[in-house]
Amino acid sequence: MSDCIFCKIAEKSLPAKVIYEDDDCLAFEDINPQAPIHFLVIPKTHIETILDADPEIMGKMMGVAARIAEKKGVADDGFRTVINCGRYAGQTVDHLHIHVLGGRWFTWPPG
Ligand code: AMP
Ligand code: ZN
Repeated sequence: MSDCIFCKIAEKSLPAKVIYEDDDCLAFEDINPQAPIHFLVIPKTHIETILDADPEIMGKMMGVAARIAEKKGVADDGFRTVINCGRYAGQTVDHLHIHVLGGRWFTWPPG
């Protein structure tokens, strides 16, 4: 999608601090981090929300999220994954992404 910022990051026409890349997924640091560790995992193809995603890409993205969390050293203490879907959840970028947050305590339920 030409006007999608995460598609632009995936095709490298918009800069980002890329952490990981393979044929299907890209991970990069969130520009407005909400925790000491806060990165995003996206599919390289434009998928708007989790409602449009197949289990294969979801599985790949979750695997990427977990492996990077381990590499960043937050797996032992624990971390949070978040997928916002739609307006009530506060999704602001309409390209599927998993937030991975770590390095501090998180409250439950979320706000
Ligand atoms: P959401 O509210 O779930 O749609 O989350 C969108 C996330 O994308 C927010 O945490 C933003 O800080 C992040 N974000 C927006 N633009 C960029 C960008 N250019 N590079 C990295 N992260 C971004
Ligand atoms: Zn997109």
